[in-house]
Amino acid sequence: MKMIGLIGGMSWQSTRVYYDLLNEAVAAARGGLHSAEILMRSVDFADLEAAMRRGDWQMIEARLGDEAAALASGGADCLLLCTNTMHKMFDGIAARVDVPFFHIADTLGQALAADGLTRIGLLGTRFTMVEDFYAARLQARFGVETLLPEEAQIAAIDRIIFEELCRGEVRDGSRDLYLDIIDDLAARGAEGIILGCTEIEMLIKPHHHHLPLYDTTKLHALHAVQWALADGSSQP
Ligand code: GLU
Repeated sequence: MKMIGLIGGMSWQSTRVYYDLLNEAVAAARGGLHSAEILMRSVDFADLEAAMRRGDWQMIEARLGDEAAALASGGADCLLLCTNTMHKMFDGIAARVDVPFFHIADTLGQALAADGLTRIGLLGTRFTMVEDFYAARLQARFGVETLLPEEAQIAAIDRIIFEELCRGEVRDGSRDLYLDIIDDLAARGAEGIILGCTEIEMLIKPHHHHLPLYDTTKLHALHAVQWALADGSSQP
């Protein structure tokens, strides 16, 4: 089994979900006391969140590049960056390592393609929803068109991620608000919904809505397990 490197802490609420998913998937596949081989760096999110707010993406790229390099030199055979938003700096971070580095939007895109979906609603941080590093990649690589919520809805989704979910708060009122937004996206023709922030799965579970929900945390983690259990021989 290969060792999975995690760049975590963004936030730690979702990194612990990755930890559970990776171990559960290995235990399910191998049985007994088997568990995942994991190496993790977990950052202080307050520093990086402040850098995002002031637009200092260079600092973020340098810091996360350092973490990626530390994981690779420490023995990680592949890397996961445990946040959608920070994939904005994916190329710069990837340039620092030569181990497989699985882009979260690619693991998502593969699932959408397998299910034949081409029009899908996107929920995530404001950065992930309105900047083009995420939607453009889905369009270019997988032919998937993303639908975005309205501006006031984008603001509410983003606020709930940073003020509640990243602090471990899961509120019924916030779930209702997200579900109303998903209803709107469905009425506009969305065939499914991307839970495009690694904390959203804490709030919205598959049974909460009839549309297919694509949980990026789970898809990302399971992709790495599949690769690790195949001893790196499956396609990244
Ligand atoms: N975990 C979140 C994501 O998947 C948001 C936190 C961040 O900005 O990294 O986008």
